[in-house]
Amino acid sequence: MSDHSVLGKFKPMSQLNKTTKKSYIELNNNEVSSLIKELDESQFRVQQIQNWVFDHYVETWDAMENLPIHIRDKLSARLPLHPLEINYITDSENASTQKILFQTQNGYPIESVLMYDQKRTTVCISSQVGCAVDCKFCATASMGFIHNLSTGEMVDQVIHLQRQSKTKITNVVFMGMGEPFLNYRRVIKAAEILNKKMGFGARRITISTAGIVPKIRQMAEENHKYKLAISLNATNELSRERIMPLTNTYTLKSLMDSAHYYYQKTRRLITFEYVLLKDINDSPNDGERLLVLLESLPCKVNVIPYNEIGGSYNRPSENTINAFLDSLKHAPFTVTVRWSKGTEIDAGCGQLAVHGDI
Ligand code: SF4
Repeated sequence: MSDHSVLGKFKPMSQLNKTTKKSYIELNNNEVSSLIKELDESQFRVQQIQNWVFDHYVETWDAMENLPIHIRDKLSARLPLHPLEINYITDSENASTQKILFQTQNGYPIESVLMYDQKRTTVCISSQVGCAVDCKFCATASMGFIHNLSTGEMVDQVIHLQRQSKTKITNVVFMGMGEPFLNYRRVIKAAEILNKKMGFGARRITISTAGIVPKIRQMAEENHKYKLAISLNATNELSRERIMPLTNTYTLKSLMDSAHYYYQKTRRLITFEYVLLKDINDSPNDGERLLVLLESLPCKVNVIPYNEIGGSYNRPSENTINAFLDSLKHAPFTVTVRWSKGTEIDAGCGQLAVHGDI
């Protein structure tokens, strides 16, 4: 579970200010150029600062040694460089996963996860404090919705984690706390900064949604090249409503229509996440319905055996998981199984939550 002892450092969330001050790292190239112009400095400074922040991951304006002191002073008087501070780091026993508790400028706690896996180093970042979507199997849902993170607070999770990481981060997934598509504009801007300023290829950035249908359509229309993942978890309206109440607003049918629309418009494959819950969605019949639901849509499926959080849902037995996978063996789409990392430190998929004085 989250180490609640460190939460003593956080103020009660009800007393926190929701207005977020802009930080440097959330500015795009045009905004940085305008800032340097306003400060009456030469444009070549833009590249110098870019190198310090996104190649050397410096923590303070003062660390930018080839920047004259008067410019560092002007910049630090104008805006903070980073909006987050690391508060606490938990390592998994086999050192393959780290869970990082951050504190935002306003004092909110958020969590991110760093995962090492052979050639890949992936970070899973949060887009909100808490979440309003209320998926019944998810730890974050128990916090309720508290606050939307700023673009800078999302990008800064990656910068801090890169500083922590033993290897170069290769992939970023927006799958931590929160529903990214309920903070759509800021998430897309964060992905743009990761892509254009930090050098992550667009296909190495994944945005995962529980199924906010209008935003799936908007992402297709705006032709963003980032990967899209949809957390599906059920094969008919009733069973999805039971575990994901947002199905009352965005039905499974409307979700599948939007997925087909996305593919027609972009020709990019969607990854469907399917969290396998004991006695809820794990039978061979469920597998067969999943096959029918997705057979006409080029896609991938990620089966995620559930990571228990001490609630009323459980992980199926290995036999049940194998029988479910067996029912998909003739599927026209690729099926992978994701055994989440870091479950013993509650860093697995769906396990992130911070409970203090909420
Ligand atoms: S699974 Fe995602 S969308 Fe659903 S409650 Fe958890 S954080 Fe929110």
